[in-house]
Amino acid sequence: MTVVVFLGSLIGAAMAIWMPMTAIPQRTAISHSFGALAATLVGIAHFLEAGGTVGHVDMAALGFEVMFGALTITGSLMAFGKLQGLVPSAPITYPLQNATNLSLFALAVVLYIYLIAVPSSALAFFAMVAVGLTVGVLIVLPIGGADMPVVISLLNSYAGLASSATGFVLKNNVLIIAGALDGASGFLLSILMSRAMNRSFTNVLFGAFGSVAEAGPAAGAATDKTVKSISVDDAAVQLAYAGSVIIIPGYGMAVAQAQHQVRELAELIEKRGAEVRFAIHPVAGRMPGHMNVLLAEANVPYDKLVDMEDINADFSHTDVALVIGANDVVNPAARNDRASPIYGMPILNADQAHSVIVLKRSMNPGFAQIENELFYDSKCSLLFGDAKASLTKLVAEVKTA
Ligand code: NDP
Repeated sequence: MTVVVFLGSLIGAAMAIWMPMTAIPQRTAISHSFGALAATLVGIAHFLEAGGTVGHVDMAALGFEVMFGALTITGSLMAFGKLQGLVPSAPITYPLQNATNLSLFALAVVLYIYLIAVPSSALAFFAMVAVGLTVGVLIVLPIGGADMPVVISLLNSYAGLASSATGFVLKNNVLIIAGALDGASGFLLSILMSRAMNRSFTNVLFGAFGSVAEAGPAAGAATDKTVKSISVDDAAVQLAYAGSVIIIPGYGMAVAQAQHQVRELAELIEKRGAEVRFAIHPVAGRMPGHMNVLLAEANVPYDKLVDMEDINADFSHTDVALVIGANDVVNPAARNDRASPIYGMPILNADQAHSVIVLKRSMNPGFAQIENELFYDSKCSLLFGDAKASLTKLVAEVKTA
């Protein structure tokens, strides 16, 4: 037993130490899967050990634990696969998908109720586990792109509820309380994130956004529009002589680990008399608060970080919006294109600034895998290259401008 606990801790510590910050969402998803697997196995072991003598009330907790546990194991594995790029991150849809998912979930609930009435039925017990595992895969398939953060948080909630039910089965108060806290906070976070992204919670669960995604412009599709690239020198001149700059950090800043160079550049521009602030989108990056954590690590003063709803009105009177490795969170399709899978999601109004400079490496899309109109806007220029390398050069140029 001690050896197993030690081994588990070792694996957990290795994951925490060596998995990069940019892989945190995947790591979180797989951790939920492990947690749910543990709860489900404990439940199955308890059922087998009891040999058909589980009482009706105990089965209410045990069945709940195993059903939600099974669903969370495969749901979280699917989320992990999507975020890791092992499964296509775009929504996967097919006819009658919602009806199928709801019917299967209803079947799991029927089996659960039957088990409470007939707790000795091994057939119903394992059928419920199998249906739970299937539902987990199917409910995550149609969810993709920008909605994945909500799903991860919801699966966190399910893993918490399963653990809490395990606590009831094992008569362990710590598990009951910790699981309930996890379940409630994950559920609330899912609702708050849905609201922040202007999504209906039920739509995220059952909406199958892929059906509209296909109608939108495919990323990388042939296009006759042109983008304007900018040299480091020209970008440095724009920044050095701007009166106001809003920096928009995104996932690419995290990939490039460019937060220190961003802070240095911001300080330089500020010293030249400009007002510099950072616009923080609630789902920029790959986990809630991702940008705040990175910028805090680089000692960017907290009062320079401004939430989306507080800064959006200021873009129209800002000289330069400097987009550093952000894409989906500045995509005007969310505002303008009803066919876009991110339509309705609030975005940072970078396109309303007098000019926009985007730091990215290529014309590759962001997480939602869709084209970004902003890059083709006549007032937008792209500074191609790794964000850290581009920022290092920009800092050197602004110093001499
Ligand atoms: P995106 O993923 O939309 O875009 C990231 C951009 O960074 C890409 O355009 C990429 O372009 C660029 N990039 C990547 N590496 C580098 C690099 N080394 N240097 C320069 N640029 C780089 O990021 P956003 O932050 O705009 O949006 C976040 C997305 O992630 C949203 O869709 C959100 O829903 C989703 N999400 C958020 C979670 C959260 O909790 N915050 C969790 C899971 C998903 P290129 O490859 O050309 O360089």
